[in-house]
Amino acid sequence: MAGGKLIIFSAPSGSGKTTIVRHLLKQQDLNLAFSVSATSRPRRGKEKNGEHYYFMTVSEFKKHIKNDDFLEWEEVYRDNFYGTLKTEVERLWAEGKNVIFDIDVVGGLRIKKKFPKETLAVFVKPPSVDELKIRLKKRSTESEDKINMRVAKASVELATAPQFDKTIKNYDLDVALKEAHDLVASFVNSKEQ
Ligand code: 5GP
Repeated sequence: MAGGKLIIFSAPSGSGKTTIVRHLLKQQDLNLAFSVSATSRPRRGKEKNGEHYYFMTVSEFKKHIKNDDFLEWEEVYRDNFYGTLKTEVERLWAEGKNVIFDIDVVGGLRIKKKFPKETLAVFVKPPSVDELKIRLKKRSTESEDKINMRVAKASVELATAPQFDKTIKNYDLDVALKEAHDLVASFVNSKEQ
């Protein structure tokens, strides 16, 4: 595998990572394309196959694991597998794109390890764990229990921040968007690999 660059944005849920990734995808100068992950979790609402995820059964997913088709994969919850197919990155690199990922902390760090020079791994930090809890409460219809689970997971994820190349503090969204753009622009335009 060879080609363009890999941009990873990882963060606890509620940090604003998806908003940042969506914003960056619209910036023509960065020449980014989104890496569509494979998953065995059921499709939600308006999600489209091949756009949000490649949806597959658990046995199909396991077949891909056996064939060594994944760059990284994880069983996030029981029988809910998520992973990045090597063919996805190859496809986007063949189109001359830089690839951007919206994946979790563990998956992001695995990709960084496999492609250390080609990858920029960015961690998005929420202002505080308390603020994260407020944001999750505001945005979601999830139960208190589920929110507490996400908040507990967030504390573990926050501890991995030093392993990333860069950290963005998402206190003010406009500032975070500009910072994210500048970081990615200087990385994709740098010659060294
Ligand atoms: P959701 O089910 O809400 O779409 O995603 C659940 C979690 O799985 C999120 O934290 C998301 O970032 C993560 N995820 C999505 N795709 C991948 C992937 O390809 N690899 C890994 N490791 N995590 C992923």
